[in-house]
Amino acid sequence: MKYKICFTCKRKKLTNTFHKDNSKKDKLHYDCKNCRTQRSGEYYNNYLKKILNKKKKQYIKNKAKKPWINSYNGAKSRCNNKNNKDYKYYGGRGIKFIMTSEDFKFLWFRDKACNMKKPSIDRKDNDGNYELSNCKFIELSENSRKVRRKLIKTQVEIIRKLYAKGNISQRQLGLRYNVSQAVINDIINKKSYREI
Ligand SMILES: [Zn+2]
Repeated sequence: MKYKICFTCKRKKLTNTFHKDNSKKDKLHYDCKNCRTQRSGEYYNNYLKKILNKKKKQYIKNKAKKPWINSYNGAKSRCNNKNNKDYKYYGGRGIKFIMTSEDFKFLWFRDKACNMKKPSIDRKDNDGNYELSNCKFIELSENSRKVRRKLIKTQVEIIRKLYAKGNISQRQLGLRYNVSQAVINDIINKKSYREI
């Protein structure tokens, strides 16, 4: 049996508790496996903490300096970033983001968003783009109450036409438009999208 003293924990341990390292004279790592694992774990945790702290600080800094910037980034991402969880309701539905952060700043002051509890950017026409004329800041609670619509006008018209022809079931329509059968049923019976 061969032994080696670990550089970090200073314990005398069997050589098979050390990783191999051909660059060393005895072909073994300075530290035992335990110490190495612990160290890499600590390193990783510290690294994560550092990154998260940096992000958090950046977020807070943004919020203090330009309170509208997080709304701006969020809306931009919903329209342009396919990995955003809400992309399907925005970019995926053809909603375009055609605003600058200056536009958001303008709206922020015009709508006195600083007096709101939780300001959030709202599109007046839910099928319209993020553009200056279609946007305003409102309370988040008010925004959440608005029905999040999944389909645009032309899609609703086509769904009703197709169903009236009788060659396609509600279920098939649901699959085609990536909504539930209940949504299709409401459209057909004019329980939703009544104005179309
Ligand atoms: Zn050790």
